[in-house]
Amino acid sequence: MAHASLMYITLGCAKNEVDTDRMRSLLTAADYEEVFDPAEADAVIINTCSFLASATSESIETTLALADEIADGVRSTRIIMCGCVPSRYGDDLPQELPEVAAFVRTDEEDGIVAVVDELLGVEREMPPFIPTVKRTVESAVAYVKISDGCNRFCSFCAIPYIRGRYHSRSAESILEEVRDLVAGGVREIVLIGQDTGIWGTDFSDEVQGPRNLAQLMQAVAEAVRPEHVWIRVLYLQPEGMTDELIATIRDTPEVLPYIDIPVQHCNARVLKAMHRSGSEEQLSELFAKLRREIPNMVIRTTSLVGFPTETDEEAEQMLAFMDREGFDYTSVFAYSQEEGTRAATMDDQIDEDVKLERTQGAMDLAESLGFAATASHVGEIAEVIVDGIEETDDGPELIGHAWFQAPDSDGAVHLDASEASVGDILQVKFIDSFCYELIGEVVED
Ligand code: SF4
Repeated sequence: MAHASLMYITLGCAKNEVDTDRMRSLLTAADYEEVFDPAEADAVIINTCSFLASATSESIETTLALADEIADGVRSTRIIMCGCVPSRYGDDLPQELPEVAAFVRTDEEDGIVAVVDELLGVEREMPPFIPTVKRTVESAVAYVKISDGCNRFCSFCAIPYIRGRYHSRSAESILEEVRDLVAGGVREIVLIGQDTGIWGTDFSDEVQGPRNLAQLMQAVAEAVRPEHVWIRVLYLQPEGMTDELIATIRDTPEVLPYIDIPVQHCNARVLKAMHRSGSEEQLSELFAKLRREIPNMVIRTTSLVGFPTETDEEAEQMLAFMDREGFDYTSVFAYSQEEGTRAATMDDQIDEDVKLERTQGAMDLAESLGFAATASHVGEIAEVIVDGIEETDDGPELIGHAWFQAPDSDGAVHLDASEASVGDILQVKFIDSFCYELIGEVVED
């Protein structure tokens, strides 16, 4: 019989989803049952995001709303706040959020069983930390974290202060997790980390096996065979695009020709102020090379708008760059003055109304490029992984994604419900598009 019931709430990015999965696996192995309603939970674990001030606010508002909901009920459900908010604001939180029973920083999450045991008064003979648990996910796609932390210290970003210095996860544990996930039915492995391109650079000379991202991806491809599984890598910084990596993406059948490089800006002066490197010329050369080496590749990027000191001309330069490069997908973020970062104390912060106007211009352009890129697939036939079934006014509809759509980010493929289930890979002809979405019909192999 289960010790108690737990509910999980994950906010923020895919990396947090992975961390929640890990905590869920540990707690399930320690005999805690998952429930999906706070009224049935003995404790709720909220894995929070603090990447931007808006994400911190959302994390706190969600926690307070949950506390209100719990206060209205009959059960004394405890709230456990995990992840980036405790890592960033740990010392101040117990006074500010008395509604929360325990705070768990990102680097303490492997000890979650002991925290929950203590809060709920569970006594056990076995040690509370269970070091080897198999990770399982119910969906067709699984994110696999290959590293944590970041050494780049971009001047606008709080991640290195929250997640600490870059550390690569061992190839052995990554490959073991990948094998377990594929054995459990996963059809797409998405490799993530704050800076995936430098994976392995912190290994000592003694470490055997894959030593860089290209070699790791080849090993992951071998690990998934003979199953038919897609492999995608996200969050590559421009400097990480080595010839070996480009060749691996081009020549490894399981690895999708989809490249996610968050450039943030193209102007050399702004990049330098961001504590990043490169120039418009260098970035253009890189994208030209990628397109030459990997025909039909899809590119996703990120644009940070309204960085302190950015002039109108520099903002226009970035728009012209985006337009010329014709990125398939661009996430546009308005600069946010993050406490503790160097950019937050820079002079010449951009007025909010100017920032808003520049952000809107960048979003409009990103959408028009993205919608056109999506429409360009109409008429093609390609494989689609089925992610789920949704009820619509016209009845059930299958939702899936094609190789050129990163799950949860880039839109989806909508299909008439037919004989298919989650995880199936179907041959689909795209017959129409709207915004980032495609309408498809299943065709025979
Ligand atoms: S590369 Fe820059 S933006 Fe990305 S996590 Fe590291 S410091 Fe933040």
